[in-house]
Amino acid sequence: MTLDLTQNDISDVVAADRAHVWHHLSQHKPYETTDPRVFVEGKGMRLWDATGKEYLDAVSGGVWTVNVGYGRESIADAVREQLVRLNYFAGAAGNVPCALFAEKLIEKMPGLSRVYFSNSGSEANEKVYKMVRQISARHHGGKKGKILYRERDYHGTTIGTLATSGQAQRAEQYGPYPDGFVMVPHCLEYRKQWDVEAYGVRAADAIEEVILHEGPDSIGALVLEPVTAGGGVIVPPEGYWQRVQEICRKHDILLHIDEVVCGLGRTGKWFGYQHYGIEPDFVTMAKGVASGYAAIACTVTTERVFDMFKDDASDPMGYFRDISTFGGCTSGPVAALENMRIIEDEGLLENTRLMGERVLKNLRELMDRHDVIGDVRGLGLFCGAELVADRDSKEPLEEKLVQAVVADCMGQGVIIGATNRSLHGLNNTLCLSPALIATAEDIDRITDAIDAALTRVMG
Ligand code: PMP
Repeated sequence: MTLDLTQNDISDVVAADRAHVWHHLSQHKPYETTDPRVFVEGKGMRLWDATGKEYLDAVSGGVWTVNVGYGRESIADAVREQLVRLNYFAGAAGNVPCALFAEKLIEKMPGLSRVYFSNSGSEANEKVYKMVRQISARHHGGKKGKILYRERDYHGTTIGTLATSGQAQRAEQYGPYPDGFVMVPHCLEYRKQWDVEAYGVRAADAIEEVILHEGPDSIGALVLEPVTAGGGVIVPPEGYWQRVQEICRKHDILLHIDEVVCGLGRTGKWFGYQHYGIEPDFVTMAKGVASGYAAIACTVTTERVFDMFKDDASDPMGYFRDISTFGGCTSGPVAALENMRIIEDEGLLENTRLMGERVLKNLRELMDRHDVIGDVRGLGLFCGAELVADRDSKEPLEEKLVQAVVADCMGQGVIIGATNRSLHGLNNTLCLSPALIATAEDIDRITDAIDAALTRVMG
């Protein structure tokens, strides 16, 4: 069956959606009287819904995923060809797309050497937590299994990864959570916690304070987003990452970088951590790996970590006792290979750097006209504008007004996002993460829409 729909069929589809689909992140009460938005088609950065309305998508599929844009026939062709050759086999055997994609990925990640496949960002992160716990069990008498995470960061939707959620809104009401996960302070300089010059170094030192309090010998890993995404688009201050790396080395703590959002070009380099010259022990990725053309996630690690799982080949508990059923799908890695080829051949990293600068410049210009913009920040095509009720007090703008700005842009046919609430009050940052193919005209249209929305909403 192909989904070639007439306008009548589309009305039936919308009715079926209303009757049976439970949408992600949605309050469904309004759908008792209105139709939910149902998207039908996409091309490049443009989308069309069931009413025929056209949108410019400034958030790459809602959650920073479709890095190379919609409607890529070469990815669809590669996936189709592979599916009819071999769609799947899971377990201990390998397959051609996984091997070739792993090799290509590792070329871009000096210092790392092993790729473990699964199918969501949450799962990729859970794999690390399990690896860290197993390393602790086998090499540290079970005593080095605590995992540190940071306020405002997010690592997934499962109970295990929610135990490392620095965003209260995500985790509230789903506890109790497993033990052994400890929060460290965030590093957002705009909302200073320390009045010092070298803010990045101070914020990293705050992590060491937690380590010393907990006991360095009890901590196996630290997980951080390279640039915090849903927690407010936070680009770490200068000096932060170098100091974090030093602290981890000093206390023999494995450094896990969650690149689920930043990976595969979002920040203008293949990976966010590569802006900072650091050498992680684990890197996880998902969204942009195949730009949403297939489900794929990767947990990438070093040969040193990998070797810790083969020290005693005769021990039945000596290897990583883990499987991901759909980690055996070949559609993910074959789509991911083509996704990387597109990023390389079309020069999308360079485009991301250039267009990202344009977003920041445009948003900074809007600050002159709209007092409600308290701060503008970003790296590559991953930018945020933090909205405040008052620039001096930095009191966050009410959530309903932030949402009104997002809704106004939607009305104008431009899809933007807003970030999540952290432990300390509202998180009130408008979020832009267009596909890496964005043109200057696309960027200007997006920031013009925000300009008009702010004027209308703030009066
Ligand atoms: N890590 C980060 C930084 C994320 O933003 C997300 C999803 N928004 C995840 C992990 C979880 O990924 P998934 O939804 O694929 O499980």
